[in-house]
Amino acid sequence: MSIVTRFPPSPTGYLHIGGARTALYNWLYAKRYGGRMVFRIEDTDRERSTDAAVEAIFDGMRWLGLDWDDGPYFQTQRFDRYAVAIQQLLDSGRAYHCYCSRERLDELRATQMATKQKPRYDGHCRDLDRAPPAGVPPVVRLRTPQAGDVVVADRVHGDVVFNNEELDDLIIARSDGTPTYHLTVVVDDLDMGITHVIRGDDHLNNTPRQIHILEALGGTRPVYAHLPMINGPDGKKLSKRHGAVSVMQYRDDGFLPDALLNYLARLGWSHGDQELFTRDELIANFDLDGINKAAASFALDKLLWVNQHYIQTSPMSTLVEASRPFFAGAGLDEADGPALDQAIDAQRTRARTVLEIVDKSRPYYGWEVALDPAAAAKQLTAAALPVLEALSVAFSALPAWDQAALHGVVETVSATLQMKMGQVAQPLRVAVTGSTASPSIDVTLMLVGRERAIARLGHAIAWIRNQDPTASSA
Ligand code: GLU
Repeated sequence: MSIVTRFPPSPTGYLHIGGARTALYNWLYAKRYGGRMVFRIEDTDRERSTDAAVEAIFDGMRWLGLDWDDGPYFQTQRFDRYAVAIQQLLDSGRAYHCYCSRERLDELRATQMATKQKPRYDGHCRDLDRAPPAGVPPVVRLRTPQAGDVVVADRVHGDVVFNNEELDDLIIARSDGTPTYHLTVVVDDLDMGITHVIRGDDHLNNTPRQIHILEALGGTRPVYAHLPMINGPDGKKLSKRHGAVSVMQYRDDGFLPDALLNYLARLGWSHGDQELFTRDELIANFDLDGINKAAASFALDKLLWVNQHYIQTSPMSTLVEASRPFFAGAGLDEADGPALDQAIDAQRTRARTVLEIVDKSRPYYGWEVALDPAAAAKQLTAAALPVLEALSVAFSALPAWDQAALHGVVETVSATLQMKMGQVAQPLRVAVTGSTASPSIDVTLMLVGRERAIARLGHAIAWIRNQDPTASSA
């Protein structure tokens, strides 16, 4: 059997973490078994669906590199097909017209609530033996079996039994003839040859109803796998309260798509205790057996850790591409500083996100440097004045601005002033970068460049004199 999975988002908002994980699992499963993934936009809810959301979902899929083999299909383009299916169910007697008024249904519901019964349709029109009321456009309801069980053989949860008595005759077409959600999903899954329905746990209760529609249409059941929910660290369903839930927000926060993908794969699925997977490893190892039953917990720390790994190991071209817009956004221009790959190379072992790389690279571009007040107070002192002056003289005299020569200057100045290397390097670092944390001092100086370094030493010297007019040179 060739495997066909599907990702059918409702375009009511951006692609969120849960949706992306569903897409990923369907993608992985299809890839693993040489199958196909169908991409379908469930846009029949015209009030809540927007073109912007469709675009946002496409953007998220593209950014994550999740492609599809079939589609995208839009449910709004398939109304004719749904009408045929509804008629088929009416003709076969598996569905019927219901003329009950809103008032009658409200009253029924109120009575059921008052007598502590579960609100459900009472089958009033199920076997209508009188003429239907004139001028009332009917809805169509599925004739659901009234006894027995539906056993959903779920690949994650095992057999889940639903009693048919609990399921009433659900509406499959509204009085204006438009199909309802359950009908469209089932017709599409049937027409598109879906063999595996892999979706969130929140759809598990829909499954017995959808099975009834499917079987009434003569279809056979796909394999079902309902994925555990994703909670925030407090154990409550992941939501905006916990931070970003939009996939694209993670891009904007400096995460790499491969890192988010790796993290999402592990959010509800495991393969031994392996945490880091390439895409190929995920494809080779992903299976429904590894999906956890219990809800997953979204942990930003872990995502940062995974991202850090990808920042350290991704090809430079990937990092340059991912960080270029952030450098531009921060006003850091390659024409006015080192090539991006050099800045990235210096910072990649120290950063957890692309944004951090960019932020730490600020001293390499432009002329201003923001002095960290604590670093300045500690390092730019009267004692540092002779150090910075000696460095400034030596740097100006250097014939070439190269790493070995710069290292030599720091060594010579330390020896001449009888100081430890660190006593020279730290004030120098603060003078040229504004902070005490940076890659090795010679790499830092290379990236800052001669003119900027000497100008900043001059500023630091003036700053010290300004703070302490009694400070004296060597
Ligand atoms: N359109 C549904 C949603 O976005 C998915 C339905 C399904 O997977 O069956 O939640």
